[in-house]
Amino acid sequence: MLLRHTPKEISERKALTINPAKTCQPIGAMYAALGIHGCLPHSHGSQGCCAYHRSTLTRHYKEPISAATSSFTEGASVFGGQANLTQAFNNIFTVYNPEIVAVHTTCLSETIGDDLPQIRKKAITEGKIPEGKYVIGASTPSYVGSHVTGFSNMVKAMTELAEPTGKKNGKVNIIPGWVEPCDMEELKRLTKLMGVGTILFPDTSGVLNSPLTGEYKMFPAGGTTIAELKSTADSMGTLALGEWCSADAARQLDKQHKVPCKVLDMPFGLKATDRFIEALRTIAGVNVPEEIMTERGQLVDLISDMHQYFYHKKVALAGDPDQLIAMTEFLISIDMCPVHIVTGTPGKKFEKRIREITADMPFEVNVKAKGDFFLLHQWMKNEPVDLLISNTYGKYIARDEDVPLIRWGFPILDRQGHQYFPTVGYKGGLRLLEKILSAIMDRKDRDDPETKFELVL
Ligand code: SF4
Repeated sequence: MLLRHTPKEISERKALTINPAKTCQPIGAMYAALGIHGCLPHSHGSQGCCAYHRSTLTRHYKEPISAATSSFTEGASVFGGQANLTQAFNNIFTVYNPEIVAVHTTCLSETIGDDLPQIRKKAITEGKIPEGKYVIGASTPSYVGSHVTGFSNMVKAMTELAEPTGKKNGKVNIIPGWVEPCDMEELKRLTKLMGVGTILFPDTSGVLNSPLTGEYKMFPAGGTTIAELKSTADSMGTLALGEWCSADAARQLDKQHKVPCKVLDMPFGLKATDRFIEALRTIAGVNVPEEIMTERGQLVDLISDMHQYFYHKKVALAGDPDQLIAMTEFLISIDMCPVHIVTGTPGKKFEKRIREITADMPFEVNVKAKGDFFLLHQWMKNEPVDLLISNTYGKYIARDEDVPLIRWGFPILDRQGHQYFPTVGYKGGLRLLEKILSAIMDRKDRDDPETKFELVL
């Protein structure tokens, strides 16, 4: 009973978050930046902030995360961090020679009012950014938004590099949102099967799931190249997967370079994947190949095989908005009942969307944006569930309430392998179903009396 003090009675809270269901903005910005080939993320703030961002990503992705910091001390905190940042550009390009530096701000640099575009301009004028190298920047104060906002802000900053040539490249931009590196790989596999040329950005595959070769590479082989980012302005369209993570960047490309965009849900589960494939088919004018139809049929087959065990099982969910929207729709499509849904990321649109998706459910739904794990726990005490799906922070609640937990989302700090097993697309749907059913059946095996303990289930 680690959370034994969580009361069942829910009282109104306005200015207090307990056990947040989010983390800080720069972590998202840093993850996005790692999806550019040859990029060194840079945290404009204190060393402590940068250490936290790096360690959180390292603990989830089980890879060393390289990043630089402006190393604010008392002086920079009072007089501003301009000198630190321009000095940092000089050091970084001299010592590490990245293609690009992606700077994000922190609570401290935002509070003292550092003006990132102005500092960058000054650094260019003073020759601190070598010819042919790039610096992009995103404002990511962590006292607003969440890691999701930070991710979105950095992806939007990437669109600054878009440079139209006047000639279309015949490709489709895909902004995958915050998904695992293996999910990005899976999206590329699907688009390749469809015969559609794409520019996926950001792309952390080959960066945060790269092979162990015994040779250290500061900048791994993966990531979207600068040339590809430039070329996004010449693409025939953009598919943004997720309103919270990807839409701002897609709309910016549309506004700036007239690249039409469509915002879709992340392709988790059958229906959202169908919509993704359909959007690809339409935008690129191609046919859906037999191989993809087979994968779809396999997912439908597994759903029908497993459906009897899922029927009306209640689920509590915590995570990020784009993932939760698609997962909620998927759970409903297999006749499960998501009854408590919390994201730490703000946005009333999230609550509205979840209410629309769950409108026909036979159970009442609790949903909260800018919520926390404490509230989710209280809801679960009042209305118990059969399953909890969340990141690792849900394990305390799962233990206290004796509910099976499926670890899904960010961060997962106590299990391994998630960077290798995609959950997007039809293949990913198979994995999700297998994880859900295994959790339910393991619990049944644990709890069944000997007279009902069956070999065949
Ligand atoms: S001070 Fe702000 S930016 Fe730094 S680690 Fe904490 S929340 Fe993140």
